[in-house]
Amino acid sequence: TYVVTENCIKCKYMDCVEVCPVDCFYEGENFLVIHPDECIDCGVCEPECPAEAIKPDTEPGLDSWLQLNAKFAASW
Ligand code: SF4
Repeated sequence: TYVVTENCIKCKYMDCVEVCPVDCFYEGENFLVIHPDECIDCGVCEPECPAEAIKPDTEPGLDSWLQLNAKFAASW
């Protein structure tokens, strides 16, 4: 899955939401999140983010962000 990280906080861009083929972006507390069970790993959103906030969960050090994405996405 892909993960939204700290550069998204208070971000106003929604480019990622528009390109996601499965609509798996949700509103978090002050940033967008990706539902880890719905993301199909297509990678389309990553280059669309002007803030470079979206990363694949294969990158090291993203565990806490992955948990936050899952938590906020599940609250919908
Ligand atoms: Fe949506 Fe694809 Fe990005 Fe996953 S990787 S959030 S499916 S655009």
